[in-house]
Amino acid sequence: MAKENYNSESALFSQAQHFLSRDNHKFSFSSNHQPALVVEPGDFIHVQTWDCYRGAITNETNALLPIDGSLINPATGPIFINGAQPGDTLSVTLHDIRPGARGVARTYPGEGQLQHFLTAPYAQFFDVRDGIVTMNERVSFKAAPMLGVIGVAPESGEIPTMPAGKHGGNLDNNKNTIGSTIHLPVKHPGALLAMGDMHASMGDGEICGTGIEIAGDVLISTQLIKGLGTDFPVTETESSWITHGVAPVEDLYSAMRIACEEAAGLLVTQWGFSYEEAFIFLSVQGNLGIAQAVHPAQGTVIAKMELSKISACPKPFNIA
Ligand code: CA
Ligand code: ZN
Repeated sequence: MAKENYNSESALFSQAQHFLSRDNHKFSFSSNHQPALVVEPGDFIHVQTWDCYRGAITNETNALLPIDGSLINPATGPIFINGAQPGDTLSVTLHDIRPGARGVARTYPGEGQLQHFLTAPYAQFFDVRDGIVTMNERVSFKAAPMLGVIGVAPESGEIPTMPAGKHGGNLDNNKNTIGSTIHLPVKHPGALLAMGDMHASMGDGEICGTGIEIAGDVLISTQLIKGLGTDFPVTETESSWITHGVAPVEDLYSAMRIACEEAAGLLVTQWGFSYEEAFIFLSVQGNLGIAQAVHPAQGTVIAKMELSKISACPKPFNIA
C-alpha cells in the first residue's frame, strides 16, 4: 500500500518498509488463514490496528450496545515471515505504538471484580493527546500504550482472538509495550503473526474487562531464533524478562504455577540454574503477577513472572 496512507506522525514510522492496513484482520489464529503480507526477518512493518470493537463504538449513543462476541478483538494480519519454521521462535519487537485520539472502557453486567457495584452497564470515553490520557476534568494520567492481542498460528486448530494460549493471543500483558520484544513459538511455516486489541492504558488484571480500547498504529520488526522453541510466549523489556501462564478463567493458581514453571525452565535450560536455585531466585527476586484476571469472562486468566536482567540471566535465551 502506498506510503501516503500512513497516518502516524511519528518519524520512526518512516522507517517502515511495509504497511498493513487494518482492513486485513482475523478473529482467530489458524494455519489455514492466507497471509495478508509476506516479509523478511528484520523488515520494519507499520501495522494498523482496530480497537477491540472494530470501530463499532464511536460515541455515547452507541457505547452500551451489545456487541457480537465473534466480532471482538480483530487482529491485523496474518503476516508471513520468510524462513520461519516449526521449532523456531519468532521475536517481535514493538518499536512504537501510537494510539488514536479517543478510546473507550466499558463494564459488562456480571463481569469484573466490582460488578456487584453496578446497577447498569457503563461506558467511559477517554481523550488521548500528546501522551496524556484524559478521563474527565479531574482525572488525567500518562498513556501507556500496549497490545492486548499478539500471536501466531497455533499448533493445531483455530483459536479465537478472545482467549490466550501457547500461541499468544489475548495475553493482555501491559508489558507488551513500546520497546518490548515478544518471543512466540513458531508452529507453522511463516509463523502467521497477527496483532490487535490496542490499549492506551491497561492496569494489571484489567478488572472491569477492558483497558482503554483504542485503534492505532504499531511499528514492528521481527527476528528468528532458529531451532529454539519456547513453550508459552516470553516478553523481554529493557530491564526484565517475563514468562506467561494461561489457565481456564476460574484457575488463576494454575496460571501462576505455569508462569513460574516457564521461568524456572528457562533458568535451568538456558542459564545453568538448578531447579532449587531457580525456585529460590524467583522467590527472592522475581515478581509474580496477574496480567489479566477477568476478561474474557468465559476464557482464560493470564499470570506473569517477571525477573530482572542480571548477568546470570541477562535475557530469556542463552544465544549470541
Ligand atoms: Ca484483551
Ligand atoms: Zn482490549
